[in-house]
Amino acid sequence: MHALAVFPERRKVAVIEEDEPRTLGARQVLLRTREVGVCGTDREVAAFAYGEPPAGSDHLILGHEAIAEVGELGSEVSHFQRGQLAVPMVRRPCADPRCRPCRAGRQDFCATEEFLERGIKGADGFLAELFVEGEENLIPVPPGLADVGVLIEPLTVIAKGMVKVRAFRERLPWEPMFEKALVLGAGAVGLLSAMCAVSNSYDTTVYSREPSDGERAAYVRGFGASYVSSVETPLADVSGKLGPFDLLVEAAGFSPLTIAGLGVLGPNGIAVLKGVPGLGPERAIDIDRLLRSVVLKNQVVFGTVNAGRSDYFDAMHLLEALVVRFPESVRHFITRRYPLEAAPELLSRSEGIKDVVRFDGAKAGGQAS
Ligand SMILES: [Zn+2]
Ligand SMILES: [Zn+2]
Repeated sequence: MHALAVFPERRKVAVIEEDEPRTLGARQVLLRTREVGVCGTDREVAAFAYGEPPAGSDHLILGHEAIAEVGELGSEVSHFQRGQLAVPMVRRPCADPRCRPCRAGRQDFCATEEFLERGIKGADGFLAELFVEGEENLIPVPPGLADVGVLIEPLTVIAKGMVKVRAFRERLPWEPMFEKALVLGAGAVGLLSAMCAVSNSYDTTVYSREPSDGERAAYVRGFGASYVSSVETPLADVSGKLGPFDLLVEAAGFSPLTIAGLGVLGPNGIAVLKGVPGLGPERAIDIDRLLRSVVLKNQVVFGTVNAGRSDYFDAMHLLEALVVRFPESVRHFITRRYPLEAAPELLSRSEGIKDVVRFDGAKAGGQAS
């Protein structure tokens, strides 16, 4: 079968011929890949910034945002049937018996950082015609979401953040009404976060570096949010006109912008940090002013990464809601679908909002036993 692999030592990214999976454990499922989304993480792994092949291998099969079709089933698989669609979870628990999150099945909160992630860290991903997965790591997807189900994985981090935002919002003993959200960044996570905020009735503004007369800005307005370009308007001015903000969603991974965003977070505001800033030289910030504001304004600032099983179901429900509410925006979110052969080039540039690799006519197979 064909797969897309990264060879970190040889600094090579290529479509390779890989053996089909041959054995299937009792609770494992053989899946035929349908679509895999490409994101910044894949591009960074393909640029050798991080990423780790499975132990003993010189290459890592890339891809973690997948939707696939169930093929053969292990003898004790009870929750899946052939032909059904499924989305695989990405992170696998660490082995440390003292890691309570992993032992409780919540490896998204792993305390040791020794977890594995398919397509990223120590385990092959899904950019292959076939893959094997334990049924406990698969989320069943209804046929009605076949065309957009590849977005479930990127939505999980948003769904997980939203669960916590609601929990923190509950500390305020009044009904939310006409609350305002500011989303920093107009990449895939920023745009999906903004759509999610609009669907949760936040008056939403997206702030990013793309111009205000550009395609991203038009896309944002298309689902009912406002767009302000950071190149044209300082964040303090945005707050004066459209703020103060009750919710800040940070999805740019640029720390000076995050700090500026916290500066326009209103009283009792909640900030969700999702972008991962690169490590560079130390930066100076006015930490006293920032922390005074967090305390005196009863603010909540929290970070979130990866997702647990329940978040996958929440993400699926969120996707169903978005498809009904913003059908055009969701459809246009997936910019283009490419064959696997185009993936190496696709990883070297970022064109649309969400580029997807589609597997057509992949044979069902594998000598599963
Ligand atoms: Zn991703
Ligand atoms: Zn752990």
